[in-house]
Amino acid sequence: MKSSPTLHERMFIDGAWVDGSDGQEISVVSPASEGIMATVPKGTREDAKRALDSAQNAQPGWAELPPLKRAAYMMKIAKLIRENRERLARTLTMEQGKPLFESRLEVDGSAAHFEYFAEFARRIEGDVLPSDNPKQTVMILKLPIGVVAAITPWNFPSAMVARKIAPAMITGNSVVLKPSSNTPLSAVEIVKLVHQAGVPKGVVNLVTGSGTDVGDELCGNKVTGLVTMTGSTDAGRKIMQRASNQLGKLILELGGKAPFIVWRDADMDWALKCAIWARFWNCGQTCISSERMYLDGSIKDRFLSHFVKMAKELRIGDPMTTTTDLGPMVSSAERGTSERFIELAEEEGSKIIAGGGRPAEPPRGWYLEPTVIDEVRQEADIVQKEIFGPVVPVLEVETFDQAIEMANDSEYGLASYVFTKDNVNVMKAVNRIRFGETYINQVGPEQLQGAHTGFRMSGLGAEGSKYGLELYTQLKTCYIDWNDKPDLPYLFPYG
Ligand code: NAD
Repeated sequence: MKSSPTLHERMFIDGAWVDGSDGQEISVVSPASEGIMATVPKGTREDAKRALDSAQNAQPGWAELPPLKRAAYMMKIAKLIRENRERLARTLTMEQGKPLFESRLEVDGSAAHFEYFAEFARRIEGDVLPSDNPKQTVMILKLPIGVVAAITPWNFPSAMVARKIAPAMITGNSVVLKPSSNTPLSAVEIVKLVHQAGVPKGVVNLVTGSGTDVGDELCGNKVTGLVTMTGSTDAGRKIMQRASNQLGKLILELGGKAPFIVWRDADMDWALKCAIWARFWNCGQTCISSERMYLDGSIKDRFLSHFVKMAKELRIGDPMTTTTDLGPMVSSAERGTSERFIELAEEEGSKIIAGGGRPAEPPRGWYLEPTVIDEVRQEADIVQKEIFGPVVPVLEVETFDQAIEMANDSEYGLASYVFTKDNVNVMKAVNRIRFGETYINQVGPEQLQGAHTGFRMSGLGAEGSKYGLELYTQLKTCYIDWNDKPDLPYLFPYG
């Protein structure tokens, strides 16, 4: 894959494209070629503060626009994303490594986020309530919070940006966006289109830089009203501590460890296809990826022999070509983490029944074979910790209730999958699997109107849906007296 080391992108603060205040840069490295494809500024705390000031200044004017006007800007951004689909998808694949067909779908999803949230323009509704007192009215309003710090990960570098900017914009907030340093270019591309759509200066700012400097400043600064972050549980915990400085509101979408249960009555061919997609799309680097399979003992061997065959048939290669199913992992460090999980499983006596190493081809790039591991214990790290790569452990279960119990035995609670045709099992899964999403006889993609949310250490709050949108608003109650006769008895409940 060709790379262009000369490309230098910049940050967007107060309506201008700028370099960082101390001139340092971050190299963006292509996971397929391992070559530097671009640089972006390594922003500083000063840059983050400037961006917050700019957002704070712009926010009141933005909030006073009728929501329909804000929605018009957002529809224009969506249109521009769709018009530039191919360029955005290529940038995404170049910096992140997912196959081009996946990037195109992600870019479509980014446009759809702007459209979906723009449709709420006429539906950010409060309440008018009867008062306990005569001639009074009680109103509850949903107001903007103010300045939103949006912090995004590298695994969906386009969609995560849209999923945070769009609800912030429609509710009248302004934004400072900080993308992952592995994949800042997709964020730059979207912000270019925000600029092109004519959004007033300061409403959306972009600061590139590290989590520990720029991210930390954004989370703990008193200007920030809401931090919305998608990333690892460890970073989420740190952000929560930091935001306690100003009691900042939080939306945290964190790690996952999705169980994938296949029962004996499932449609095997369909379950197999879904199992392959759920584990290996985006090279296993998806928070809702299947990360541990629980197979009914009576079908385990049959299911597994097909699953292993299908995993071995996945075409590993250059993500820019149409014949690739599995691209490289995002970074050498991420591949190293997955490799350590494989080593650990081998040391514990588990059996690698597919993959387990780096493919011979391509010679460069951070590729890892699809890996299937049998004979694992429920307590093993490979079953309990998040594996963000194409590696899946398999366990056998004797009863459906046991499968649910083992699925719930996790500190994570994001996505879960169940394949069965038995209605009783389906309803048990609906009611007893304690995960934010349960896919029954299907895999994603999740839909915009669904709440993306996690139990336990998978996060706080929600994204997408009307429930996610509400978290971008601040409730305010107004008590309005319209008594024009001052002698009218006034009800003070406590005398
Ligand atoms: P990460 O936690 O390393 O980084 C995410 C973002 O947080 C980056 O922009 C990073 O710079 C920033 N950050 C890190 N430490 C910070 C700090 N102390 N203060 C402020 N900002 C900080 O995650 P990642 O490696 O980019 O992404 C992979 C993780 O994201 C996985 O755990 C995955 O499950 C999770 N994820 C979750 C969802 C979800 O919706 N639940 C979606 C995608 C990814």
